Amino acid sequence: MSARVLVVDDILPNVKLLEAKLSNEYYDVLTAMNGEEALLKVGEESPDLVLLDVMMPGMDGFEVCARIKGNPKTAHIPVVMVTALTDANDKVRGLESGADDFLSKPINDVALMARVRSLVRLKMSTDEWRMRENTASQLGVVDENAGLMSETAENANILIVEDKSFELNKMENTLTGANHNVMGVENGIDAMELIAAHEFDLLIISLNLDHEDGLRLCSHLKSNERTRSIPLVMVGGEDDMKRIAHGLEIGAHDYILRPVDRNELVARVRTQIRRKRFQERLRATYEISLSMALTDALTGLYNRRYLEVHLEKQLRKNEESKKALAVLMIDIDHFKPVNDTYGHKAGDEVLKVFAARLKDNLRSFDMVARLGGEEFVAILPDVSEARAHMVAERLRRAIADEPFDVGADSGPVTITTSIGGTIINQDGSTVLQSLERADKALYEAKETGRNCAVFEGVGKLDPEQIMVSERKSIE
Ligand code: GH3
Ligand code: MG
Ligand code: MG
Repeated sequence: MSARVLVVDDILPNVKLLEAKLSNEYYDVLTAMNGEEALLKVGEESPDLVLLDVMMPGMDGFEVCARIKGNPKTAHIPVVMVTALTDANDKVRGLESGADDFLSKPINDVALMARVRSLVRLKMSTDEWRMRENTASQLGVVDENAGLMSETAENANILIVEDKSFELNKMENTLTGANHNVMGVENGIDAMELIAAHEFDLLIISLNLDHEDGLRLCSHLKSNERTRSIPLVMVGGEDDMKRIAHGLEIGAHDYILRPVDRNELVARVRTQIRRKRFQERLRATYEISLSMALTDALTGLYNRRYLEVHLEKQLRKNEESKKALAVLMIDIDHFKPVNDTYGHKAGDEVLKVFAARLKDNLRSFDMVARLGGEEFVAILPDVSEARAHMVAERLRRAIADEPFDVGADSGPVTITTSIGGTIINQDGSTVLQSLERADKALYEAKETGRNCAVFEGVGKLDPEQIMVSERKSIE
């Protein structure tokens, strides 16, 4: 996996140095020498990560970062601020402007690679959800600002594992003061007990525990299904850089160096909580919107919206692979009298069973959707004309041959259906044209007396003849 990193710095030797280090680790490197150029490249090249110098003439790094993060199209790209200042206020300001992380100059190689690697990995996993959400927003079910990370970051449940009581108190007080619910323990066993009993949003783990290896605890938490996705922040000293790098490698989200700066702690915790809630929201909206937007509540079949997107894709595939697909328009005959005679609920029951029979009689890669009312469409990719005829007849029989039980005193009700079919070759037909062609054939089927299938250019199918050729094809 080769990720693309944009390096932004107004001083050429700095750019060259970072470029060399990153290229050495097989990253693709893009560069920019000022804020405007950086924004342009972010927009045009969508890098996987931005390393952003804070101090630049004109637009400074904070502003560039705020603009990247304020644009729904680029907000998901991780930004690491690179600062010459060791001033903690600067770090905090960077995180507040939406930066995902920061590095101080002179840049420590281990820290650089650890940050880059873990942020790129994070981006890859978020990208997957974003792509799906993108489909949902194309379908008009989530608005495009859903891509912005706008979650609140208060009231998080945080567990701290730290055996130096002074340090533990300091972190507890700081985070409680920032409106979080904090629990503190001194060892891994107590931590595991609490984790089993509570839902935590964040874990903070000391790498300097006296009687055990904090890194081992991190590794355990990261390999455990239940705790794997909880953000984990390590606390360690400068001497622990190698272990910190290892921790990030195995999935810890972040680290903080001692002496722990209160503002930095609050800011890093906020970033993690926000990110976690953002990812949870992406996942949730995706799942809800998908099922609501794409399926029909009564029958569970795909709806018209999904059908149109799907058919569009199939038509394009048709062109590329030089294959043919069939569109079958399927409409229940005299359905209105069924409602009128047995009631709307019985009508609904017929629709459900009708839908299930269609589905049962198609291949797994065929698709059937409910267009609306008592009208359905089946798309059969990669079929011959003869095969499409067979399928249409099979569907017709599956409905007509077995009466529907609607709970009526007079017994099961016979239902029939009319089917209009068309074969789409590579003739450049659009979605709408394909559906219209099938619809015309359906109209003919209704005119010809219903309970039959009519194909465009072929006319009404002869059930006897189809059965004969079906038998032949089996033999
Ligand atoms: P044709 O053979 O010409 O198709 O006649 P038809 O009666 O099936 O067609 P028409 O379009 O006149 O009537 C369709 C009926 O389908 C009218 C409506 O009450 C019923 N219908 C549409 N959607 C639903 C639904 O969700 N549930 C129920 N129970 N009935 C529905
Ligand atoms: Mg009808
Ligand atoms: Mg109708």
